[in-house]
Amino acid sequence: MPKIKTSRVKYPEGWELIEPTLRDLEAKMREAENDTHDGKRKCEALWPIFRISHQKSRYIYDLYYRRKEIKRELYEFCLDQGYADKNLIAKWKKPGYERLCCLRCIQTRDHNFATTCVCRVPKHLREETVIECVHCGCKGCASGD
Ligand SMILES: [Zn+2]
Ligand SMILES: [Zn+2]
Repeated sequence: MPKIKTSRVKYPEGWELIEPTLRDLEAKMREAENDTHDGKRKCEALWPIFRISHQKSRYIYDLYYRRKEIKRELYEFCLDQGYADKNLIAKWKKPGYERLCCLRCIQTRDHNFATTCVCRVPKHLREETVIECVHCGCKGCASGD
């Protein structure tokens, strides 16, 4: 009899160490998605979702690139499975984008008046001291702030 192929994912070594954190963040993500958004502006309702997905990517990124606590196989597995945002991480590796909040904030077509989001402007170059960008609620993510 031929073996029945199962779609079970094979988890790489070290998965059990990061799984609780990722599951935790995913639960928070679901909560944010199901939130009723009462009294919030439409864009604000999306902020927690951006923030949590940022956190997930940052967690994986730090473990691999900074703390060097996970192996390449596990890192790539996380990217493939969507636990971290490949495109966002690719930006973090570029000078000037180390702290980028989300990809939308650097998409010029989303900004009517400027070529980049207000949160990307370094503190010393902008007039307002306290900001929250409309896309993800970022309070400033320029490198060096
Ligand atoms: Zn930002
Ligand atoms: Zn922004």
